[in-house]
Amino acid sequence: MSSYKIETKCVQSGYRPKNGEPRQVPIIQSTTFKYDTGDDMGKLFDLEESGYFYTRLQNPTNDYVAAKIADMEGGTAGMLTSSGQAANFFSIFNIASQGDHIVSSSSIYGGTFNLFNVTMRKMGIDFTFVSPDASEEELEAAFRPETKAVFGETIANPALTVLDIERFAAAAHAHGVPLIVDNTFPTPVNCRPIEWGADIVTHSTTKYMDGHGAGVGGAIVDSGRFDWMAHAEKFPGLTTPDDSYHGITYAEKFGMGGAFITKATAQLMRDFGSIQSPQNAFLLNMGLESLHCRMKQHCANGLAVAEALSKSSRVDFVNYPSLPTDPYYNLAKKYLPGGSCGVVSFGVKGGRKDAEEFMRKLKIFAIETHVADARSCCLHPASTTHRQLSDQELADAGVAANLVRLSCGLENTEDLVGDVLQALG
Ligand SMILES: *Cc1c(COP(=O)(O)O)cnc(C)c1O
Repeated sequence: MSSYKIETKCVQSGYRPKNGEPRQVPIIQSTTFKYDTGDDMGKLFDLEESGYFYTRLQNPTNDYVAAKIADMEGGTAGMLTSSGQAANFFSIFNIASQGDHIVSSSSIYGGTFNLFNVTMRKMGIDFTFVSPDASEEELEAAFRPETKAVFGETIANPALTVLDIERFAAAAHAHGVPLIVDNTFPTPVNCRPIEWGADIVTHSTTKYMDGHGAGVGGAIVDSGRFDWMAHAEKFPGLTTPDDSYHGITYAEKFGMGGAFITKATAQLMRDFGSIQSPQNAFLLNMGLESLHCRMKQHCANGLAVAEALSKSSRVDFVNYPSLPTDPYYNLAKKYLPGGSCGVVSFGVKGGRKDAEEFMRKLKIFAIETHVADARSCCLHPASTTHRQLSDQELADAGVAANLVRLSCGLENTEDLVGDVLQALG
């Protein structure tokens, strides 16, 4: 499908039924798969043939949907995971282990920050966090000989900073490591990071891709462009034999296009079992079929709400990359010309208490630990998702104590603007 436009890929990529097969993606609700001989199944265990034997590693429904997302992003291979957290964990743990180091943008989702800064540090992987606005020198200084990847979010949740993907990709590549980009907020409808030099793309499909708040999930896409063998000493997991599969070497056997996802499936899915349920993959695919239509309305609503907020005297600041006054407007024009997302964050004048009062007065926007679905919702990160962060870490993550995050859903634009203005009083 790769020559078609994104709208066609949203609808048609992935599952391609043959003569007489179901038109809709079949839900293969089966933990296991039957073979005529042990030899047939043995070939799968040796990675000599591709196929299915146990849904903890792979399931056809998931693979249809992963193939669609990979095609939408312009990658060569993809996989679904049980959550966005699992996707980001796998994307790094697939190429980094104890003693290694990652350079990450400091402006990232709170759950990802915690995963990196606390849990993965306990596993012996070190992180240096750099501002997405870091100068060339600051970015350069963050690298070490044991650095294995650079990580950032296209549009950060909830700070709404925009990553200069080309600049971060160039820095990563100069050090022989891949750039991993979490593209959850724009979705491939609004930005395809691989076109700007990213090597691996991750998603929390829980957000716009599912789009209806129905299923938690994640995805990883490989661009197929990173030459692991050219930096073989940095990535021994991909470039030296894996004893658990009779000594195959992923980068040799599966090439640049397949090595990363095959290894993540064969080792990480096998050992951690963070598979998305086929039922959720089916729901995700339903979301993907209308993603291009929905993103337009999310973006129109986001822009209208951001504009109304920026004119209000009750508002301290507004973060919305598609707003001409936003510090990230120029990057948004470059990377997100068709719109950014439906999430707007802003500061209520006064402080923490005023932010909480604003939230109480809202009628359409519901208070939820969620963003990016059909129903508008709102959150006060400092007292919820980011409450584990110190004031300094909050500031580094671009989250002020009076910051409210609004997620504009698919409702009528005037109704949403009206709700926000009445709640500001
Ligand atoms: C929500 C989110 C995640 C985590 O995804 P889950 O599906 O909740 O595990 C990761 N990155 C970003 C940008 C997110 O918004």
